[in-house]
Amino acid sequence: MKVRDFGEFGLIEKLNQILPINDKDVIVGYGDDCACVKLDNTLLLFTVDIQVENVHFLKDRIDPTDLGWKLSTSNVSDIVSCGGRPRWALISLALPKDLDYDFIKGIYEGIKQAQDYYGFFTIGGNVSSSSQVMIDMSMVGQTDRFVGRSGAKVGDFVYVSSELGLSKAGLELILMNKNFYEDFEERLIKRHYRPTARLDLLDSVLQANSCIDISDGLVSDLWHISKKSQVKIVIEQEYLKVHPDLELFCNKYGKNPYDYILYSGEEYQLALTSNKEMDLMKIGYVEEGEGVYIKSKSQIVKLDEKGFRHF
Ligand code: MG
Ligand code: MG
Repeated sequence: MKVRDFGEFGLIEKLNQILPINDKDVIVGYGDDCACVKLDNTLLLFTVDIQVENVHFLKDRIDPTDLGWKLSTSNVSDIVSCGGRPRWALISLALPKDLDYDFIKGIYEGIKQAQDYYGFFTIGGNVSSSSQVMIDMSMVGQTDRFVGRSGAKVGDFVYVSSELGLSKAGLELILMNKNFYEDFEERLIKRHYRPTARLDLLDSVLQANSCIDISDGLVSDLWHISKKSQVKIVIEQEYLKVHPDLELFCNKYGKNPYDYILYSGEEYQLALTSNKEMDLMKIGYVEEGEGVYIKSKSQIVKLDEKGFRHF
């Protein structure tokens, strides 16, 4: 059998069976944005993310500082979505021998910008030679309460931290490889290259019943909450706001904004559920059942679990 035969999530499940967790200090193991360990009275969060040349980025197209920033942001975002603050990072590098030093220096400068912005320190790492650039960051965070994917309750409202869909529009613009971009297009591209993890919303996350950061796409990530919490999630289409820049993009290129709002990955915004009124964008509610649905005035439709998959 080949790894692709399992699919991304099937493969992870299969591999995790080889390494069962028998440790009472592990509060949460596989299957959430972070693992969580309780030591004395502290909850530590652990996460890891990799950026691979030609999978996540094209070396000749990306600004390496953006790459360092984005790698850091994807890790911080997982820590935040579990209710934590980022504290420490480790970095593994795999680099071709003839790589320009300026490229890796740029990545590190981007990581430095992220460290200063989010408030964590890189405290170790290692390096290997390789045929393509790979950079992997592990991060440890700290929290007083673990907020995960499994806590959504019937009666909760569903909230998101921003209008969505901008990252996917930005990526499509980058791939158009145009000589000239309009101002709104430049802003969309920036949302793709320079996403910001919502550390500013930590207090809201800590009050939520469940939370996930939107890295695969809203629908796909709400499916994760639906499965883990064993609930049905209903998105109300009329509550989905279309960001003005996304609207300009969709008008110009003849696209449907909901394809972007529902399926854009690498947003690094948060989706959370709570029974409280929150100062965030309410987009739906949680009820008994399973799956993710979208409700318009005339009908309610079950949404496909599609999102980005590596295999
Ligand atoms: Mg995540
Ligand atoms: Mg992640």
